[in-house]
Amino acid sequence: MDHLPLTLLPFTRPDIDEETIAAVGDVLRSGWLTTGPKCSELEAALSLRAGGRPVRLVSSATAALEFALRIAGVGPGDEVITTSLSWVATSNAILTVGARPVFVDIDPVTRLIDMAQIDAAITAHTRAIIPVDLAGFPVDRDRLYTVAGKHGLRVIEDAAQAQGAHWHGRELGSFGDLVAFSFHPNKNMTTGEGGCLVMNSEVEASQFEKLRLQGVSRNADGTYDCDLLGGKANLTDIAAAIGLGQLKRLDGFIERRRELARLYFAHLDGLPLNLPPADFVHSNWHMFQVLLPAGLAARRADVIRLMREAGIALGIHYPAIHLMTLYRELGLAAQALPHTESVASRILTLPLFPAMQDADVKRVALALDRVLRDLGAAGESA
Ligand SMILES: *Cc1c(COP(=O)(O)O)cnc(C)c1O
Repeated sequence: MDHLPLTLLPFTRPDIDEETIAAVGDVLRSGWLTTGPKCSELEAALSLRAGGRPVRLVSSATAALEFALRIAGVGPGDEVITTSLSWVATSNAILTVGARPVFVDIDPVTRLIDMAQIDAAITAHTRAIIPVDLAGFPVDRDRLYTVAGKHGLRVIEDAAQAQGAHWHGRELGSFGDLVAFSFHPNKNMTTGEGGCLVMNSEVEASQFEKLRLQGVSRNADGTYDCDLLGGKANLTDIAAAIGLGQLKRLDGFIERRRELARLYFAHLDGLPLNLPPADFVHSNWHMFQVLLPAGLAARRADVIRLMREAGIALGIHYPAIHLMTLYRELGLAAQALPHTESVASRILTLPLFPAMQDADVKRVALALDRVLRDLGAAGESA
């Protein structure tokens, strides 16, 4: 591991309060560590936010996406439309169930799947769409469900980054088809590792319960049956106790993220960077991402190194999935995705997390201004 400056500002950091730490201690002392009462309590609390829809916990959003695809009946020979500008989990889940990801280019302004290009990507094999709410900025749900309805497709919302985000007043998860959230430590709320799926019915929820634990169901006489091949992806009560503490603070976290995002817009004004849409209604501001000017794309590693020397960590979210080795080997890189490739080569995630100070935003902006000038980007338009 490299040596970090003591004052390194990370691009994100979870915020766990003492009350939550004490609640984890209570679980550890209780004698029941695996899936139990704390998981049920968190599922009920998440379901309340989802307007009463069934919610089940799982060990990762990756598993939630995979099980959602299985519940939607997606398998070998099927195609699933998605974006290449995401964490590789999104399309890995599609490959895991034996289906083929079909990447549609992004809209360079929103950096989300371009709704206008979905129609053209639909074939006789298309079964589902997995949109991704990158940075917590929601995909247009009206257009999404219109296109899905028109073609009879299932939707699996990869809302891993979008817990607490809204679409015209409605919280994500409270409407739509299958909705997956992640509780990885980098997300807006965490369980250490974990995730959940919001579903349409108790039938889907009981199928999900089987999928997350070996495909077993309990018989009335206390024995078990197994009628489908499930995985091992249940969540622990230790993790759920963390999630209960986090969920209480989620709205406050998002409010603080919004404030910091507003400060970024103020301090980054005039820098040669492409900024995200200034949305303070729908987004949960999971990330604040900027694009370097095209002329500096090849020097992104230098930007990251120089910022790190200034005590500031930046992230890359994400390299384009279709250009990764596995995807190239599967012949999935052939399709031209010019906006995805351009944005993926220039994108940088700036530090943004609830415990960050106002002064940190200014520090990031000043350092970025200096680094860009040193690299000769001053005045160049993004
Ligand atoms: C984090 C993330 C995932 C995977 O979540 P895990 O809980 O780590 O499995 C999937 N999709 C997107 C867009 C993510 O950001």
